[in-house]
Amino acid sequence: MLASTMDSTARSLPVPRVLVVEDEPDIAALIAYQLTREGFRVETAGSGTEALDAIAREIPDLVILDRMLPGLSGDKVLMRLRGDSQTARLPVLILTAKRDQEERIEGLELGADDYLAKPFSPKELVLRARAILRRAHDAGARSEGKVLRAGPLRVDVGSNETTLEGVELNLTPTEFRLLLALMERRGATQSRQQLLEKAWDVESGVSGRIQTRTVDMHVRRLRAKLGDVGAWIQTIRGFGYRLKVPEGRD
Ligand code: CA
Repeated sequence: MLASTMDSTARSLPVPRVLVVEDEPDIAALIAYQLTREGFRVETAGSGTEALDAIAREIPDLVILDRMLPGLSGDKVLMRLRGDSQTARLPVLILTAKRDQEERIEGLELGADDYLAKPFSPKELVLRARAILRRAHDAGARSEGKVLRAGPLRVDVGSNETTLEGVELNLTPTEFRLLLALMERRGATQSRQQLLEKAWDVESGVSGRIQTRTVDMHVRRLRAKLGDVGAWIQTIRGFGYRLKVPEGRD
């Protein structure tokens, strides 16, 4: 019934609008130049405050956000974006000066969709930007159709029905919301905190009171109900979970 809306042939993307947030003019100009050349529409912001103003005026398709900004840091900008329902799912690619694994984890924990360490090649940046936009576009198309798919797994958001190879799974409402949260941002790692907020409908800040271990417990149950596909819910050590569809299974 909804198959047409999820057809992967519907790939023609409009010109993507990218906001580049970087206080170093040379780097900002280089990124803007490269993205414009590749057909993106680019706006730049030199500070976190400027970025939030620009986003308030018009929500872009992607934000490329430097972590090190004077005043309001990139992390704070990202937190604000994630805390606002209008921009909670706005794709964000974080730029950082450090290659450190800790930095990467921190950036992803704050809800970035991807991470790129400086110095990066402009080509790599464009590839990452395209990948994020493609993922966001696919996720958008799926939720418009109210059906999300990952390989043999199908979640109907309208009817709360989950099937695996066409067989209905008996998920509890919490397991359903947890799976939905993972599928909506598939490929992206989400912290236990983020999953708590989505699947348990817990306000940010209050959720510390609920054991994040609760998430682990529900993930275990969900994995068990998903059989082989359960392994697609990957544990990202010390951080959280992501749904990763193995190549060729989608
Ligand atoms: Ca900077």
